[in-house]
Amino acid sequence: MQADRRRLVVYDALRPSGAPPNDDDDHFHDQCGVFAIYGHSEAANLTYLGLHALQHRGQESAGIVTSDGQQLFAHRAMGLVQDAFSQEQLGRLPGNLGIGHVRYSTAGGSHLKNAQPFAVDYARGSLAVCHNGNLTNADDVRAELEGRGSIFQSSSDTEVLVHLVAMSTEAAIEDRVADALAKVKGAYSLLFMTEETILAVRDPMGIRPLCLGILPGSGGSQRRDAHVVASEPTAFDLIGAEFVRDVEPGEMLIIDDAGLRSVRLAEQAPPHMCVFEYVYFARPDSRLGGKSVYEVRKTLGEELAREHAVEADVVIPVPDSGVPSAIGYASTLRIPFEMGLIRSHYVGRTFIEPQQSIRHFGVRLKLNPVEPILRGKRVVVVDDSIVRGTTARKLVKMVRDAGAREVHLRISSPPTEWPCYYGIDTPTRRELIASSHSVLEIARYVTADTLGYLSLEGMLAAVSGSTGSRGARDAKGAPADQAGYCHACFSGKYAIPFVATARKQTRLVGI
Ligand code: SF4
Repeated sequence: MQADRRRLVVYDALRPSGAPPNDDDDHFHDQCGVFAIYGHSEAANLTYLGLHALQHRGQESAGIVTSDGQQLFAHRAMGLVQDAFSQEQLGRLPGNLGIGHVRYSTAGGSHLKNAQPFAVDYARGSLAVCHNGNLTNADDVRAELEGRGSIFQSSSDTEVLVHLVAMSTEAAIEDRVADALAKVKGAYSLLFMTEETILAVRDPMGIRPLCLGILPGSGGSQRRDAHVVASEPTAFDLIGAEFVRDVEPGEMLIIDDAGLRSVRLAEQAPPHMCVFEYVYFARPDSRLGGKSVYEVRKTLGEELAREHAVEADVVIPVPDSGVPSAIGYASTLRIPFEMGLIRSHYVGRTFIEPQQSIRHFGVRLKLNPVEPILRGKRVVVVDDSIVRGTTARKLVKMVRDAGAREVHLRISSPPTEWPCYYGIDTPTRRELIASSHSVLEIARYVTADTLGYLSLEGMLAAVSGSTGSRGARDAKGAPADQAGYCHACFSGKYAIPFVATARKQTRLVGI
């Protein structure tokens, strides 16, 4: 433990605790999850549980900062939530306020110093902040701050926000945060915490999700309601909280002793919720933007079946994210659905280092075929995306080696041709197989008999629940159904400009 001379108490675990290797080449990697609770005597324990429910959003590090009203207490560690915290460590995080974070590195590398929440002391007191997203002008702001004498401890763009808040000349914390956010661009769902206040902010386009909930009558001796905020409402389910609503794009929630207030920070911008949340990132039991992620995925599969039907004996998903889409695909074409690939759920704790020479074990470690389901069959394999193509190739081979007569690969999203600059860890454009290969060429590379991707129009129609009204176009000729969603990794249409110098691009995509 190292207690500093001021208010903040830090208990970080300096020993990396074995984050799982990143051996999945064919999915955009998860991002981050955030959780906050205000007004509960078990803030640390409930934040721990909330992070547990958000574990799928980031497995590299986890952290919790609590406040007892006088000072902040922080603990961060590398690895999964269950490994990052012991009961004893949670017991050293007192107070009724807490924010927490699970991280997959996007901007910044995989180091404990980049683990969040960040927590600092500054002239006005203590401040903790955690972030899901990516600031597209972080390099410029950071260079400007460094030019004025700021010293950074980490390579994460979130630290830029800490400096901006600390340097603001405003008095109230909500004004300081507003002042800081006026200087940055990008995608962010942010939580700030002082000794007495929690702020939750969503970027003006609402690219990353953020939800508000309430834990009724649970706030200590006075039985006040506790407010909770999380990336996905599944975090509420686990702790018995009720979903209230999504935080609006450009909205800041201020939660303190006076209750909850809402402030609009930015002019209403066209919303651009990340469509990939529905395709892959979010848990299927989540509701985002008022829609069940499971139902949307099923509809994606139904659309896929209408666009790319094939005669087959069995439809199998690539578990877990491909399951609802495969159900939708199979039921639409009246083909039997089976679990022809079984996922091991214990891969995360392997000690194997992610060296290139052994990365090929990756797919076998995670998935194994069920031979009786596949032997002699014409098999449709449904997955949510193809990134580099290497995993899809191994999967097709695995299914064929198990005896499949034909292997037809169906993807419940369009070809991913463009990197994400809004908080998702993606390869460079050069590494995205669809950026330089036609669908036919990709089919040959992955050795599938046929390959079908869902169209952009079909995906957006499925996500917006308007599959019957496809074909409508807006004034610019774009599919009308695309309104409200970011789909830049499929279309190249970036809603927020980014600085694409080689150095910045490398940092932004996290490699
Ligand atoms: S570029 Fe793709 S992954 Fe990134 S926010 Fe947009 S839809 Fe989501």
